[in-house]
Amino acid sequence: MCKCINNMYVDILRSLVKCKSITPNSDGAIEYCHDLLTSWGFISKIYNHGPVLNLYAKYGNGNKNICIAGHIDVVPPIGNWSYNPWELTNSNGKLYGRGTNDMKGPLSAALVAIHDYIKNNQHTSISVMLTSDEEVMTDNGMKSLVKELIAHNEKIHYCILSESCSKGNAGEYIKIGCKGSLNIDLTSNGEQCHVASGNNHINNFILLLNNLVNIPLDNGNERFEKSIINITSIDTGNDTRNIVPPSIQAKLNIRFNDNWTHDSLEQYIISKLSNNITCRFQRFGNPFIGASIEYQTKLKYIIERTLNKKVEIGTYGGNSDALSLHDITEVVEIGSPLAQAHIVDEYITIDDMNKLYNIYKAILENL
Ligand SMILES: [Zn+2]
Repeated sequence: MCKCINNMYVDILRSLVKCKSITPNSDGAIEYCHDLLTSWGFISKIYNHGPVLNLYAKYGNGNKNICIAGHIDVVPPIGNWSYNPWELTNSNGKLYGRGTNDMKGPLSAALVAIHDYIKNNQHTSISVMLTSDEEVMTDNGMKSLVKELIAHNEKIHYCILSESCSKGNAGEYIKIGCKGSLNIDLTSNGEQCHVASGNNHINNFILLLNNLVNIPLDNGNERFEKSIINITSIDTGNDTRNIVPPSIQAKLNIRFNDNWTHDSLEQYIISKLSNNITCRFQRFGNPFIGASIEYQTKLKYIIERTLNKKVEIGTYGGNSDALSLHDITEVVEIGSPLAQAHIVDEYITIDDMNKLYNIYKAILENL
């Protein structure tokens, strides 16, 4: 595998990192991709959905439309950075800057793979879908773009989302779907009293939370890992040491597999609650598998041959735009390591950029 730096994808990445495209702002990034793709012969259109810019660009009129999808928005560069987050810094085999990993870097590699592929395959059909709102994922982002394309009867057969999703090294994980998500707010209500009185509803509430997180929801299945429940906040707002406060709130989240639905999970949680506890649910995304076995098998074969290494298939990680994309196409995520996303001094290695370029190009050539 080539160890050299491909100047073209470093140049594209440098231009994208310069855009302060904190969700939902494009700050020129969508426009830059539009101009680039247009100059390569794509018919590109930018859609305004609320404050979000979305892009769909298509090259050629082949029977099979293969799509590369992604987002140009990033999370804010909070924390103490050693590098300017808005300027690409190349140091010791790593490219630093906000979004280099998630996902301007993988996107740059994918764009150059497309560029190099269409040079030799002019009778093909390739498309690109981009949004500027993935990090918050309102209805204005990929969801609106997918609706728009369905309304215009656009057919996309296969999609690769170049998302930061890899469990290990770049490209070595094929993410084929996602668990569902349910937020739960619990409030325990009791009598405010003196701490010495021994009548404390908070103790019981903590026991309940302990049970909720320690009793397994399931053992997973052949499609998904097991469902998990996590506490993200416990709060009484009480600064004293001698008052038992009248209420305590906890926030929880469940990432669940297709052994469950939002309804069955909500019933399960309610069945565990005593009368003094109120709850509120917020549903987000059902569990889904976005790719047929045939598509998964093809991709696994192509990537393993490219990397000369075994790759894993699964549903590790959080929600992404695949949730919307699978309404219009078969979709998988293949990209950079999730562990390097959203960190201070975010980076992608040049080695990973090379790997991803080779993988995306091999997929376009062999799918
Ligand atoms: Zn991302």
